[in-house]
Amino acid sequence: MEQTTGRNHINRNKLNHLANDRVCKIVGCNNDFRINRTSGFCDNHEFHEHDLYLELHDPAGTLVNAPAHKDIIDALIEWSSTRNFGLLPFFSSLSFNSLGNVPDVSTLAGKVVHPGITVPTIGSIYDSLIEVINNYFPVNNNSSYQPLKTPRGEIPAIVLAYTFAGLLICEEANRGDRWFCRMVRKEEAKTTQLGAAMPIAYFATRIFPWGVEMNKSARNLTR
Ligand SMILES: [Zn+2]
Repeated sequence: MEQTTGRNHINRNKLNHLANDRVCKIVGCNNDFRINRTSGFCDNHEFHEHDLYLELHDPAGTLVNAPAHKDIIDALIEWSSTRNFGLLPFFSSLSFNSLGNVPDVSTLAGKVVHPGITVPTIGSIYDSLIEVINNYFPVNNNSSYQPLKTPRGEIPAIVLAYTFAGLLICEEANRGDRWFCRMVRKEEAKTTQLGAAMPIAYFATRIFPWGVEMNKSARNLTR
């Protein structure tokens, strides 16, 4: 995963939630803003300057197009329905281990610092999700490597799961504010953004017993 410039999202963290400061919180910026502005950012810094995105390479090292959240979930659901393998505990575990554990991309990039707070590395976050995945898709079990059909070609189930974990980290970093609320504000209930909960909501919608046809309209949950 890399940080890059490009499609940047608004920084939803409220670094001036106590409304006691008026100097921009971006490292190196001394611009003022109105003291009652809770974001803590000047007019130039309302948006993240980076966007975390995932690159997928094949075993030869060639960059390949990664399937989207929706395509991965669809493939895993289809696969699980052919065997007695409930995906709910797996997605539940991914949710528990990703939501709120990924700092926003500006924090990851060191553009914002939070005194006294340890910022985890992307690598350590990813490793923790790999551990979750390996519990459900054991690396020494052949079925973990079963190739599943996606619009990007056939990809082994375990690779799809790893890719999905990477996408969750990107969503949480680019759009989430849960880590900031949990770790910095110490009030997770202040979280306003879904972040990585959005793709997981697509999974939840696909498996919920609605009683009506929902497969196509559930796409609206994947942007
Ligand atoms: Zn600024």
